[in-house]
Amino acid sequence: MEFIYNKKLNLKISRIGFGGIPIQNSSVENAKDVIDELIRSNVNYIDSARGYKESEKIIGEAIKGRRSSFILATKSMARTYEAMKKDIEVSLGNFQTDYIDIYQLHNPNMEALELCLSDEGAYRALKEAKNEGKIGHIGITNHSLEVLNKAIDTGLFETVMYPFNIVEDQGKEMFDRCKSLGILTIAMKPVAGGAIDNKRLAIKYLLNEDIDVIIPGMKDKNEVIENVNIKKEALYDSELAEVKRIKEDLSGDFCRRCGYCAPCSVGIDIPNCFVFEGYFKKYDLKDWAIERYASLKHHASECIECGMCESRCPYNLKIIEKLKEVRKTFGK
Ligand code: SF4
Ligand code: SF4
Repeated sequence: MEFIYNKKLNLKISRIGFGGIPIQNSSVENAKDVIDELIRSNVNYIDSARGYKESEKIIGEAIKGRRSSFILATKSMARTYEAMKKDIEVSLGNFQTDYIDIYQLHNPNMEALELCLSDEGAYRALKEAKNEGKIGHIGITNHSLEVLNKAIDTGLFETVMYPFNIVEDQGKEMFDRCKSLGILTIAMKPVAGGAIDNKRLAIKYLLNEDIDVIIPGMKDKNEVIENVNIKKEALYDSELAEVKRIKEDLSGDFCRRCGYCAPCSVGIDIPNCFVFEGYFKKYDLKDWAIERYASLKHHASECIECGMCESRCPYNLKIIEKLKEVRKTFGK
């Protein structure tokens, strides 16, 4: 396993980390097997979230007695001081630990970021928890470069997580900026939310990029073994040709979650409709995807086909047709 050392955080981290979304449906027994394999393979980074249902709890149970083998990272959608204070305690309880290495603001939009950073916002609770030794470092995750660049400008964040994969490399410059500032860079969605079938190639591609940690989701120990056996070596000509093919194949059909299509005339959160559809169709996470989709204020069925979003999408996605698919998938 290749490691990176981040001087500012004083952490030595395996470049392949464990993404904790799929474990939310796991038995504790399976999760313990996964943790055994992570330790055997020298994977020391675990990523979870308050929003991944039972993920924190299952991980907490599985790492009991082995907490010190891991750098634990999680995240919360809490935006206010009180809500974040509560969530930090819940995460500590779930992980059965008194210390979480990295705690992140989970995907705030610009307005939510402002609220988080205000006097009554979530950041104050994170800072307080850091001063009390309950968390080690404060990070942020996002799908928007605009939000992340704003967050980086504040100088308040020590880790940044953003989607990065063969078809989504628009974050290169932002990640380079993080690197120059000593901010830990974490790539989420290494297989583009399931759109890239060749997981091996997707991870090998990322290992060759200048990004600190890659966090593919892993549901069992076989997936851990598959992932950790992927070595950082130069891509063969045939692999480079496949990278090119994947980019071309997905170019007109894959939503990069850039948000340029917003605002929708009726308030539909277009990228998240596609994200939740991906979780439903590509992963064994149907119930969770239905729940997350249901929590959206507006649904694909409300589209009035005004076309405003399509005129703004830089990737020329046929959003109206794609939303019809989302409606078929979720029934609304
Ligand atoms: S639909 Fe297009 S503009 Fe909207 S988030 Fe996806 S890629 Fe970006
Ligand atoms: S076409 Fe549909 S999704 Fe796009 S902006 Fe109009 S109402 Fe919203």
